[in-house]
Amino acid sequence: MTLQISAAFDSGNIEVQSLDNLQDIQLKIRKDKDSDFYQWFYFRVTGAKGQALKMRITNAAGAAFTGGWEDYKAVASYDREEWFRIPGTSYDNGELIIEVTPEQDSLYISYFAPYSMERHADLIADCLQHEGVSLRVIGTSIEGQAMDCLTIGTGLKTFWVIARQHPGESMAEWWMEGFLARLTDMDDPVIKTMREKATFHIIPNMNPDGSCRGHLRTNYAGSNLNREWGVSNLEKSPEVHHTIAAMDADKPLFCLDVHGDEALPYNFIAGAEGIPDFTDKQAKDQADFLTAYKKASPDFQTEHGYPVSAPGKGNLTMCTNFTADRYNCLSMTLEMPFKDNANDPDAEVGWSPDRAAQLGHDALTAMADIVDQL
Ligand SMILES: [Zn+2]
Repeated sequence: MTLQISAAFDSGNIEVQSLDNLQDIQLKIRKDKDSDFYQWFYFRVTGAKGQALKMRITNAAGAAFTGGWEDYKAVASYDREEWFRIPGTSYDNGELIIEVTPEQDSLYISYFAPYSMERHADLIADCLQHEGVSLRVIGTSIEGQAMDCLTIGTGLKTFWVIARQHPGESMAEWWMEGFLARLTDMDDPVIKTMREKATFHIIPNMNPDGSCRGHLRTNYAGSNLNREWGVSNLEKSPEVHHTIAAMDADKPLFCLDVHGDEALPYNFIAGAEGIPDFTDKQAKDQADFLTAYKKASPDFQTEHGYPVSAPGKGNLTMCTNFTADRYNCLSMTLEMPFKDNANDPDAEVGWSPDRAAQLGHDALTAMADIVDQL
């Protein structure tokens, strides 16, 4: 058997520099196309069953967020369902070291549990099997992939929930899976009421091209979509362009943009305090939502997060600021960890698809708590 490492598949990313020595395997993460961002990796190791491997990601120091490598453990899977952390992961001398002995002929290793475009297709198809769920394609990505937008509910209050502007933040679509599983469950009394009060527009994957290509942060044109709001065009950021057009037609009262953060081991919300006219109502609605989310999920907290922008200092090309400013609505960014929740760590899996999905499920409890005041 010969050791092979490949990333030529949906969401894959790695370049092989040297496989000559099993104790000195040298790898590099590929940059996002037409961009300098990189951090996402996802590859398959074959032909090394029972052999101790030491892999070095030699360009880790130049990654987008090197704070992401401190106390970080890579994830791996044999069956592509269960993802576990690799204890032998360390960041040393500017390199990410992964030491592992594969127990089977094939082992997948990734930055976080990947969420493939095939799984996205299954998610959309599954939602459409439920009553009262409709789909529209609001436009296409640069490479021609559908921008899927689900609509659920019949109420007057308009909710927008989007995820994965940054494609490498795959936990955002795992969150969506839990969120949608609950929102399509009409046996859940919270949902029954919520769907009478609100109409949800949901884009589970804002960046299908970047997702397929194994990007961290950008689309096919190298655009960071969360810096394109208000400055988008069809050449460099059609994904945002189409989303704003759809929002203009159904103006949000509530907007949530779901992300992952490389460095901070917590779940937290970043608000729109930095827009020129952050209103008392926006502040109160946000505070009430945070309280409700904390009550709904022990995995959510408000102690740790980003510094709050001063009024007028917020970047209006980000979704949260742009939508809060344009629609005068409650708009927030949710961040989840790549690493773990330090308040309730799990050495075996860290922050995981299951926990992200549960946090998505629980977000609906918090939304139901504040829907009447919006
Ligand atoms: Zn992000």
